[in-house]
Amino acid sequence: AKYVYDFTEGNRNLKDLLGGKGANLAEMTNLGLPVPPGFTITTDACRHYLAAGVVPDGLDQEVAEHLDALEKQMGRRLGQADDPLLVSVRSGAKFSMPGMMETVLNIGLNDESVHGLAKQAGGNDRFAWDSYRRLIQMFGKTVLGIDGDLFEHALDALKGKRQDTDLDAGELQGLVETFKGIVHEQTGKDFPTDPREQMRLAVMAVFDSWNAPRAILYRRQERIPADLGTAVNIVAMVFGNVGNDSGTGVAFTRDPGTGTQGIYGDYLQNAQGEDVVAGIRNTIPLEELERIDKRSYDELLGIMETLENHYRDLCDIEFTIERGKLWMLQTRVGKRTAAAAFCIATQLVDQGLITLDEAVTRVTGDQLAQLMFPRFDGGADKKKIAKGMNASPGAAVGKAVFSSERAVELSEQGEDVILVRRETNPDDLAGMIAAKGILTSRGGKTSHAAVVARGMGKTCVCGAEELEVSTSEGRFTAPGGVVVSEGDVISIDGTSGEIYLGEVPVVDSAVVEYFEGAEPQDELVKAVDRIMSHADSVRRLGVRANADTPDDAARARRFGGQGIGLCRTEHMFLGERRQLVEDLVLASTDEARQAALDALEPLQKADFTEIFRAMDGNPVTIRLIDPPLHEFLPDIVDLSVKVATDGATDKDRRLLAAVKRLHEQNPMLGLRGVRLGLVIPGLFAMQVRAIAQAAKEVPGARPEIMIPLVAAVQELESVREEAAKILAETGVEALIGTMIEVPRAALTAAQIAEAAEFFSFGTNDLTQMTWGFSRDDVESAFFSRYLDQGIFGVSPFETLDREGVGRLIRIAVEEGRSTRPDLHLGICGEHGGDPDSVHFCHDVGLDYVSCSPFRIPVARLEAGRAAL
Ligand code: ADP
Ligand code: MG
Ligand code: MG
Repeated sequence: AKYVYDFTEGNRNLKDLLGGKGANLAEMTNLGLPVPPGFTITTDACRHYLAAGVVPDGLDQEVAEHLDALEKQMGRRLGQADDPLLVSVRSGAKFSMPGMMETVLNIGLNDESVHGLAKQAGGNDRFAWDSYRRLIQMFGKTVLGIDGDLFEHALDALKGKRQDTDLDAGELQGLVETFKGIVHEQTGKDFPTDPREQMRLAVMAVFDSWNAPRAILYRRQERIPADLGTAVNIVAMVFGNVGNDSGTGVAFTRDPGTGTQGIYGDYLQNAQGEDVVAGIRNTIPLEELERIDKRSYDELLGIMETLENHYRDLCDIEFTIERGKLWMLQTRVGKRTAAAAFCIATQLVDQGLITLDEAVTRVTGDQLAQLMFPRFDGGADKKKIAKGMNASPGAAVGKAVFSSERAVELSEQGEDVILVRRETNPDDLAGMIAAKGILTSRGGKTSHAAVVARGMGKTCVCGAEELEVSTSEGRFTAPGGVVVSEGDVISIDGTSGEIYLGEVPVVDSAVVEYFEGAEPQDELVKAVDRIMSHADSVRRLGVRANADTPDDAARARRFGGQGIGLCRTEHMFLGERRQLVEDLVLASTDEARQAALDALEPLQKADFTEIFRAMDGNPVTIRLIDPPLHEFLPDIVDLSVKVATDGATDKDRRLLAAVKRLHEQNPMLGLRGVRLGLVIPGLFAMQVRAIAQAAKEVPGARPEIMIPLVAAVQELESVREEAAKILAETGVEALIGTMIEVPRAALTAAQIAEAAEFFSFGTNDLTQMTWGFSRDDVESAFFSRYLDQGIFGVSPFETLDREGVGRLIRIAVEEGRSTRPDLHLGICGEHGGDPDSVHFCHDVGLDYVSCSPFRIPVARLEAGRAAL
């Protein structure tokens, strides 16, 4: 195996092997840019070292050969006493992990070569001792594991009120002695003076830094695989700390916040490496370099242009100037904000650097989603009281309330409220819907609060553990004794997780206004408009909405939805209509039952009429009633209490009996969906009639009738027969199909397709049933454990589990189409708005995805990206 690559041998496509830093250093070298020579030890070698505890055979030999070559090229040997070559030993993984791993500069210095270095710099002792103290400091901390504060404190004590550049050669020489003393005291050994030994130890320390706790944490958060390992770059040192004609800086080729072209960077004279970002002295804006060193400045600007044209994207760079000579030390395609991503992509199209197709691939649905949330005004005064997890982005302001009921009450009075709970459960749903934002003190990013809030596009901060929430007393306490009681105004930032006391002003998202129909005005919205139009023109997948109300249906249309993929009917049985459902359940004769159904029918018909109107000739998939009936009945405890008191009516007593009769151990697996339709005569027929009558009234209406929870074709056949008869009688045409949400349905899709004109994958239930866990119960119980232990990379309720649930979908798609080639296929679980899941749906050949109206733009964009 080859474990070491010279910079001249690599290129930017070798990130897996050389890490991002190494691959891009090689790329710049081959572009002819001024990069100090060096070589890269591969991630292969690191993986071997981490697994075996020793470096692979042959590595030492290969490194020695490359070092020899480097020494020849530079005309000096590593740490050579009278004229030393120094190197840096730098980490660099495939994915950038800013500041998470280690780098050691000035390797090769010792008590002799420090004098050689001074001589090299024209007798500059100060510079040489400064470089030496930096080596001991970095090496001590990184390689020898000494607490970095010990060095910092010694340096601070020496500096007093002065800056590091005010220290003279003698003082720095003294500091070197102090640092050596710290090393001896902490490790019981002397600082290693052999240059090659220094380098060898530093390489292993960089390997080890892959598993530093903060690196592990960062990877988990960023979903970077844990087994990639880091490469190590050995780079000939260049020095920005020789004097005021030297310095070091960082820059972006354009503004990573907005995408605007210009000079964005910071520079620090007489400094080395990390000094710029460490904030030891105040940096100056890069523009000022023009005044200090115009030649280097002009060269730098030329290089930045070269890099942008070459990478065809925004790049960030690190550079150093050594006595008027510019050196490039790092570049990569730079991270940027969501807004900048859209602007830059279209700017690059206009510059002729990329095509519109590429522009679509340069932005993500997640970035688009971020742009759709309102934000707090960055300039406003704020009083931060705590921080939780940024579960669902956005900015929400309102009065704190501590129960779902209060949230509903106050919001009905026109108040904005923030629902504060220790954690939420399905009972809080109404309050969550009524609230502007949700704040919990417990639970992670897959907690009920977080998942539901994201689905609704509602701002949520969860797991703010610093808060003591007492729902019974109606208040919470934040650190520092801040007490927030019901009615006090708070502001929560779902993008950062921060919680503020009082009202922080918010600004509306211009992107949402655009989706709502406003003409694109500013650059960002114009960029979004162009990219969305292009995504629409290339995507194969249709995008529909999950919408139950005319308002949602109308928004879905405005946001680009091409129909409704899931219109639930259960909410049509709530509110004042509960009464009618109670009558239905209590009916003891056919006549009484029919009377209850007859009373419901016109109400349902009116609902459907409105939705058909809002969808304006686009298809509407209506799911017949799905949840167990007792969900519409009063709570068993409340009823029992009522029945035990004097005021109870006969109906109360009969209701209690019914509730007891309908009680289920596992309602999720109980009497619901098609089972309900088969057990309660006339229920589905009433719904189908309401749909048919409504469709008759709205010209162009395109109803699709969807039967939930089918597991066997026989279930579907009997419902279908009845429905088809009603449709024929009314002369209305409608597709009849089923949800595929029980594993057995997926596995018998060939049979089921005989009775279904369409399938819609109900991936919420399908995920629960495939994994065998109920979402409401497991998320708070053990999901965070599973995520921590890597059993899930991501919650299967958030992103579709391709291997398990996805396999069932593949089977159902293939077998369903084998029976009925024109079988129409869609997905209506929450996954329909999740970027990765949209790509899966494209790959597996579905016809459309359906998601909440707010997620439609995300799905449109990702469907476009999937097609490219
Ligand atoms: P990080 O990945 O944390 O940015 P780097 O490996 O880039 O760490 O190095 C830390 C700092 O040291 C950077 O500012 C870099 O530019 C500087 N540096 C690294 N190698 C050299 C070198 N050979 N000569 C001068 N400065 C260097
Ligand atoms: Mg760097
Ligand atoms: Mg379901």
